Amino acid sequence: MKASAGGYARANNLSHAIELLALSDGMGRVLAGGQSLIAAMNMRLSTGDMLVDISRVSGLSGVIDEGETLRIGALTKHVEIGAHPLIRAHAPLLADAVSFIAHAAIRNRGTIGGALAHADPAAEFPACMLALGATLHIHGPDGERSAAAEDFFEDLFETSIKEDEILTAITVPKAEADERQVLQEVARRSGDYALVGLCLVARSSGHRISLLSVASTPILARNAMTQLDQGNVDGAVAALRAEIDPPSDTQASASYRRHIAGILLRRAVAQEKGDFA
Ligand SMILES: Cc1cc2nc3c(=O)[nH]c(=O)nc-3n(C[C@H](O)[C@H](O)[C@H](O)COP(=O)(O)OP(=O)(O)OC[C@H]3O[C@@H](n4cnc5c(N)ncnc54)[C@H](O)[C@@H]3O)c2cc1C
Repeated sequence: MKASAGGYARANNLSHAIELLALSDGMGRVLAGGQSLIAAMNMRLSTGDMLVDISRVSGLSGVIDEGETLRIGALTKHVEIGAHPLIRAHAPLLADAVSFIAHAAIRNRGTIGGALAHADPAAEFPACMLALGATLHIHGPDGERSAAAEDFFEDLFETSIKEDEILTAITVPKAEADERQVLQEVARRSGDYALVGLCLVARSSGHRISLLSVASTPILARNAMTQLDQGNVDGAVAALRAEIDPPSDTQASASYRRHIAGILLRRAVAQEKGDFA
């Protein structure tokens, strides 16, 4: 199937992109790497849009060390995230996540901003943002605003980005010297979306556990976090299984996903402690 007819405009800079969205009368769609958007258009899940191509807007790509945080441009590609020395040193969860995302061709074009704005609950980067406690930076006609990752993902494929706004960057706290960051997931085949995935961040202020593919958005498992802070792994696994309400679909049943989530938490804890690679 082919996409329906629509408009296209390439933005020269960020102000131009915001202006083009404003002129699109609610039909504007930001085009970044196109790996999700074009597929959706070809399936006619998205029609008649005015594509505002931001892929050549300068200043929206790359990673900057800001001292206590890393600032990641929204147009930074998955492949760049995986290889970037600052990410590998200070936010290894993101670098590790890349190897779980799709295939090389998609990772070469897909952008972190696109993955977050798309807000697929089965995607890795959104769950990483929750586990890391990231802040998302959004520009619109009224200037810049920031959103905590916990407030950003609102529902299935829905975020707090308004139709005239653009996600421009993400800041993540740099890992402490002895911080551990782990991602575990189960997928049917390498490169498939995960049936269940789990991120664990262990830092001095406590544990953060997020999950993908168990709800309409990525979620934090707060009860499991509390149990893990008390050193109770069995309690954390039980709490995790009790606090999630995963869907049943053609890929996996809810009970299978709940079971796997507990196993992933045990694996992540073992990996965090260096007992399991
Ligand atoms: C076969 C296949 C398998 C995949 N497997 C995985 C997987 O296992 N794990 C995973 O995480 N992902 C997977 N993906 C998704 C992939 O990671 C996409 O690259 C990513 O979700 C979207 O990034 P993009 O830059 O291509 O965004 P686009 O496709 O250009 O845009 C996606 C959506 O985000 C909006 N958008 C994009 N950038 C911005 C911005 N800066 N501000 C506001 N809105 C914006 C667009 O308007 C659109 O609605 C897969 C994709 C495919 C096609």
